[in-house]
Order: sequence, then structure tokens, then C-alpha cells
Amino acid sequence: MNTEKSKSLFEEAKKIIPGGVNSPVRAFKSVGGNPIFVQRGSGSKFYDVDGNEYIDYIGSWGPHLFGHNPSFIKKALLNAIENGTSFGAPTEIEVQMAKLITELVPSVEMVRMVNSGTEATMSAVRAARGFTGKEKIIKFEGCYHGHGDFFLIKAGSGALTFGVPTSPGVTKGNAADTLIADFNNIESVKKLIQANKNEIAAVIIEPVVGNMGTVRSNDSFIKELREICSNENIVLIFDEVMTGFRLAKGGAQEILGITPDLTTFGKIIGGGLPVGAYGGKKEIMEMVSPSGPVYQAGTLSGNPLAMNAGLAALNQIKNHPEIYTQLEEKGKYLEDGIKSGIKSIGKNYQLNRVGSMMTLFFTEEPVVDYNSAVKSDTKLFAKYFHEMLNQGIYFPPAQFEAMFISTEHTKEDLDKTIEVNLKALKSL
Ligand SMILES: *Cc1c(COP(=O)(O)O)cnc(C)c1O
Repeated sequence: MNTEKSKSLFEEAKKIIPGGVNSPVRAFKSVGGNPIFVQRGSGSKFYDVDGNEYIDYIGSWGPHLFGHNPSFIKKALLNAIENGTSFGAPTEIEVQMAKLITELVPSVEMVRMVNSGTEATMSAVRAARGFTGKEKIIKFEGCYHGHGDFFLIKAGSGALTFGVPTSPGVTKGNAADTLIADFNNIESVKKLIQANKNEIAAVIIEPVVGNMGTVRSNDSFIKELREICSNENIVLIFDEVMTGFRLAKGGAQEILGITPDLTTFGKIIGGGLPVGAYGGKKEIMEMVSPSGPVYQAGTLSGNPLAMNAGLAALNQIKNHPEIYTQLEEKGKYLEDGIKSGIKSIGKNYQLNRVGSMMTLFFTEEPVVDYNSAVKSDTKLFAKYFHEMLNQGIYFPPAQFEAMFISTEHTKEDLDKTIEVNLKALKSL
């Protein structure tokens, strides 16, 4: 496969953009080699600047539930652009958007639009702190909530004392307010709450994780987490930036049957444009300015182009609830195909899947949390990734990520992927 043009663009980019990319994972750092520069996308596929075709399983890292450039979103954008791109004054479509979100996700009684998932999670935590009058938060090792300072924290050596920053530029002060628990381990949460009695404002969690690879929360764990938060006056925040509108129209909370106090959204909610949102219980959301004292604002929030694209996506979801059954069937088909490849080379690599999200982990032990995920052989993954890429299958360029199936992936796409998977596995 010739990727000369991508290579030379990357060389040029590296001189003037940090690492040559505007978001780190795009640089292929964890798998080596040069990133592919994309020119255009359509349906399940995209095409690079050298003219190569790929079946795409990242879908812009989640937003493209309906594949690349679906005609109904393109139409909505073209219509919207006739009226202007931004006003900084309220518009009718923002009301329609809020109505539809609160209808599709019943736990969301009120919602505020922002411009990214990161903004949504930062704002939700601020609202929770303002509402409870408490300062500390609990997050889970391996969950990702965007790049806000107080999320870039991992467990320190004495897990019950302080977290430590995972990035220079994040202060010890931030680290001191973020406590780290183990995913799917309710005892670790109880211990933190006990040691920080009446100090925890919020617990934030990816109810189905995508960002350590795909990992589902256990039913008993998430149920108990809900109970503890209610008993301790802690705001339970489900970060559904990835899972919202992907796993079900009501998100992970619908399939788990658990009602959070606040939910954050991003990705699919913008129909491919930069959008985030946070919402939930009315009494908490009414703390947000201008109805309450918790400040949060945005020059381009509720942007008409973004709202039109997002609303088109959500309307499609509302009018076609059957897509989730179809996505489950496609997911199962691909899962079975990849697993039979694994079996035929005599391995037991773990494949975790929930609906249209899945991850193939290069480890033979079940992956249920961060510690079990990082047992994966990332060198082997890198090799596998490049074998797939060379045959025109674009999987996420990092082991600890979810791949996504869209409504536009055909049986032919899936069959080709299964076939290439077998070849790639055999070559390892
Ligand atoms: C992608 C993601 C974010 C961050 O969203 P951005 O739009 O990249 O800022 C936050 N939380 C989760 C669960 C995500 O998957």
C-alpha cells in the first residue's frame, strides 16, 4: 500500500503542530509507523490522500453511528448554513435539541449544550460540587473523561491518600481532590468514601468503558454504586460521551437499568460536529448559571450548525429504534468471526463487546478492569494493527480503545474484516 503522501504531510505537520496532530492518539505513537491522512469518507469507508480505501472502525472515535457523511446530516447542514453560522443569541433549534435529549434519556430533566465531551465532564463536576458544597471526586482507574486537569490523575502508591497527576502541568492541588477507585470493585469505592467522609461531591464513571478498551460494569457493582451515592449524598455522574446513543437510544443507563444524577454526552450527539452536553436532575441543573450560581458559558455553545447536525442524528435514532438490534446483530457476527480466527490459531485472546463497541485484547485472561486490561501484549497488538491496516481495515491505532460498527457496515465489510483478521492473526 502506497502512503507516500501521508508520510510527507506528517513530516510537514510535525514541524508546526505538536507531534503533527491535533489529538495525540491520531499520531500512531503506540503502534509505530506513520498516520494515514484522510481525504474523504462515505458510509463505512474512508479514503486517504494517496487514494487507498479503508473499512473504518473508528468512526471519528465514536460520533459516526450512521457512517461517514450520511445524506440526512449533510442535508441538515446545507439547510442550516443558508441562515448563518452563529448568533450568540438563543435559537429555536436549541429548544428542539433539549426536548429530544430529555425525551430519549429519561434521567435527563434539564440539559446544557457545550462544545466537547471534555467541557461536558468538567462542567458536570462543577455543578455537582456547587450542588453538594463538597470538593472531592472519585474516578476509576482507566476511565477517561477528557483532558480536564482534575481527571488527569492516577492512583498514588498509598491509594487511600492522594492521587498523582498523569501529566505535567496538572497541579498537586488538583490531584488532591481526585480519588481513584478500581473499576468493578465496590470495596475500593467504599474505602475511599469511608476515609473521606462527607467530602465527596461526585463519583464519575464510564458505565460501559471504552477508554481502557471495552469493559462492561458488573450489574451488582453498578447497582451498589448507585445505592452508596444516594446514601452518602454524592452525585453519580455517568460519562456517556461514548456510550450515549451508541448502546441504546437511552445510552448505557438504559441497558444497565441504572439512573444516574447527571449524564455527560458528546460524540454522536453532535452528528460529527464539535458538541457536548451535560444534564440530569432538575435540582442540580438549576444550579447552573444564569438560573443558579455555578458559572458555565460558551460563545459557540448551541451553535446552529452543530445543533442541526446533532438533531438530525438524534431524530434518525428516534425514528429508527431498530438500528440497535441491527447493530447488535452485526456486532455479534463480527465478534463470532474474529473469535473463530483466534481459536483457529490456538489462542484465547479476549474479545469484549457491548453492542457496536468492541475490543480485541491481546491477553488470555478476562479483562474486567484496568489491571487486567494492561496485561495485554501491546507489541503484538501493534503488529496485528498494521497487518489489518495494510489490508485496508482501519482499527483504532492503540490497544486500549474501542472499535465501532456503524449502521453502514455491510455483511461484505464484516466478512472481509473477518478474513483479514484470520490472515493477520496467523502472521503474528
Ligand atoms: C471522548 C470522551 C471524552 C472526551 O470528549 P472530547 O470531545 O474528546 O473532549 C470524555 N469522556 C469519554 C467517556 C469519552 O469517550
